Amino acid sequence: VKNADEKTFAGLNPEQFAAVEQTEGPSLIIAGPGTGKTKTLTGKIAWLVGNHMARPEEILAITFTNKAADELRERLESLIKNKTKANEITVATFHAFGLSVLKEFYHRFQRSENFILIDEALRPDIIRSLFNIKSGEAKKLASEISEIKNGTKPETPSFEKYEEELQKLDAFDLDDLIAKPLQLFTENEDARALYHQRFSYIFVDEYQDTNHAQYQLLRQLAPYATSNLCVVGDANQSVYGFRGANATYIQRFAEDYPGAGVFRLTRSYRCSQTILSASANVLNHDSGFLEGLTEGVQVSISEQPTGAAEAEFIARQVVELVGGVSFFSIDSEVTKGDKNDTIGSLSDLAILCRTRNQFEAITKALRDHHVPYQEVGTIPFFREEPFRSFTGLLEAFSMKSYKQALPLFSLKKQTVTDSQFEWAQQKMLELKPVLFIEWVKKQFFSKETFKEAEWERFCILAGEMDSLRAFLDFLALGAGADMHNHRMEAVSLMTLHASKGLEFECVFIPGCEKGLLPYNLYKTEVDVDEEKRLLYVGMTRAKKLLYLTSARSRTLRGRRFQLPKSPFLQSIQQELIQQIKNKPHKKPVEKDNQLSLFD
Ligand code: ATP
Ligand code: MG
Repeated sequence: VKNADEKTFAGLNPEQFAAVEQTEGPSLIIAGPGTGKTKTLTGKIAWLVGNHMARPEEILAITFTNKAADELRERLESLIKNKTKANEITVATFHAFGLSVLKEFYHRFQRSENFILIDEALRPDIIRSLFNIKSGEAKKLASEISEIKNGTKPETPSFEKYEEELQKLDAFDLDDLIAKPLQLFTENEDARALYHQRFSYIFVDEYQDTNHAQYQLLRQLAPYATSNLCVVGDANQSVYGFRGANATYIQRFAEDYPGAGVFRLTRSYRCSQTILSASANVLNHDSGFLEGLTEGVQVSISEQPTGAAEAEFIARQVVELVGGVSFFSIDSEVTKGDKNDTIGSLSDLAILCRTRNQFEAITKALRDHHVPYQEVGTIPFFREEPFRSFTGLLEAFSMKSYKQALPLFSLKKQTVTDSQFEWAQQKMLELKPVLFIEWVKKQFFSKETFKEAEWERFCILAGEMDSLRAFLDFLALGAGADMHNHRMEAVSLMTLHASKGLEFECVFIPGCEKGLLPYNLYKTEVDVDEEKRLLYVGMTRAKKLLYLTSARSRTLRGRRFQLPKSPFLQSIQQELIQQIKNKPHKKPVEKDNQLSLFD
C-alpha cells in the first residue's frame, strides 16, 4: 500500500481519491448509488493504515446492519494484506459498538459484568408481567419506551418502573445499546476522553439512515470542529424515516462541522445508464445526474393476472437467464445489448420485495422450478421456539443468583430448582459453550423438542463462539438475521430495506402496485416520498438487468387484494422500458430438464 501509485490507489478514480487524501478533519462524501462511496470509505481506511497515519486500533467504522459490517470487514481484509492489522480495526454496527461500550462501563449503570441482553421479543413479556397488562397493551408500551429511549418522547412513570425492573434483572434492552452509551458520554468526562483517545478516526457508512440517538452518540464521539469523522451517504436513499432516521442530519453535518470537506462522486460503476435514468425518473429527478458505465438494456416490465402467476414468471425468467429454456417473448422492436452474457450464476440474481408477506408465493414458484434460493432478513430459526425458550434458559443461568433468575424462569414458564440452578452454573464454568448447550438440552428438554438439523446448525454457531456470553450476544443482536452469503449458488430473496448497499447483475422487484409500492395495505399514513426512495434503492441494486413486475390480484396473509399498478412506474420514460408478455406454451415444463440445471 505504501508505495502505491496515488492515481490508481485501490483502483479509485481521481474524485474518489481526493476524498481519501483528506485524512484529517471532518469530511462528508455525498453521492448517488454505486458511485463507490463504500469503496472510497474502505480505501481511505486502507490508506491511513498503509501509510502509518493511523494505527488500525484507533479506527472505528460504523455500519447499520451486521451484513454491511461483514462486507466492510471483507473489503478491508482484501485491501490491507496484513490480516492482523485488518482485524485490529473496529468494524461494528451502532448496536454492536454500544454493546462493547457497556461491557466496559456496566458498573456505571449498576449492572454486573454478566449483564444480560433483552431482545425485542422478550421485552413485551417483561412489560406484561411487570404491569399486569394484556399483550397488545404491552406491545404498545414497549414501543413507547423505545421512543423514550431514542429521545423522541419525554420520560413517564411507567418508563421509570421498567428501568428499575431491568436493573433488577441485571439487564439492558436493545435500545439501551445506543441510549446508555450516549448517557455515559454525555455525563462522564472521563469516559468521553477515553473514547476520544481510543478512536481518533471514525467512519460511518449509510449516514442518511442515522436516527436522533445515533446522531447524538456520534456527536459525543467526535465533538470538535477538527474531529476526524468521515461520513458517507445519499439523501435519496434514506429509507428509515419510520424508525426516526432523518436525512437532514446530512445537512446538519455541514453546520456542525463548518470546515468539513465535502466530496461528490459523479460516476456510477454499478448500474447501466438505462437503469440509472429509470430510477431517477421514479424520484422525479432529471435522468442525467449520474453518469453510468454502459447504456444497457431496457428495464423489463411485466403485468401478470395473479401473485402466483407473477411468482411463476419470475421463477421461469430466472431459469431462462441462467441458461435454461426460453419462456417469454419481448414485446419490443429493439432490444439493446445481449442480456445472457451477463448472468453466470444464481448468486447474481436477487428478488426484492416490499414486504415479507410476498415471499410465500415466490419461494413456492422457485421450489417448483428447483431453483435454490436464500432468504435474507427473515427471522432465523434460532430466534423462534423452541430455541427462544432454550436461550432464555441460558440467559437465566448466566445471572448472579437463583433469586435473580426466577423472574426469567417464570416468564418462560420453566421449572428450575435452586440446586439445578447451582449445578448448571457449575457446568457452565467447566464446559465449553457447545458442550454446555448439549448438557442443558439433556437436563431440561425432552428428546423430541428440537429438530435434529436445526439443533446441529445451532451447535455449529455455538461452536464458533469463544464464550457462552458471546453466543448469547450474537443471538440477541440479531446477528444472523441479515446474514447473506454472496458466494452461495442461490437466488437471494429479501426485502427492499435489506438490500441497501448490495448489488446484483439482475434484480426483480415484484409487487409494483399501489398498496405495496407505496405501501399502505394495513395503515393509512404513508410517506410517499420515502416509498419512492425505497423503490429507488431497490432499482439501483441492479447492474445490468431490472424487472419490475405487478399482479392484478394477489393474496397476502390469506386476504385477496386487487391493486392498480404502482403510480411510480408511470414516471419512467417509455423508451427506457420494454413490456414482457407470456408466450403461450403448450408443452408442460419438463422436470428432468429443470433438475439437471441445478442439482
Ligand atoms: P450504495 O449507495 O448503493 O451503497 P456505493 O456508492 O457505496 O453504493 P460501492 O458499493 O462502493 O458504491 O461501489 C459500487 C460498485 O462499483 C462496486 O462493485 C465497486 O467495486 C465499483 N466501483 C466503485 N468505484 C470504482 C472504481 N473507481 N473503479 C472500478 N469500480 C468501482
Ligand atoms: Mg455503499
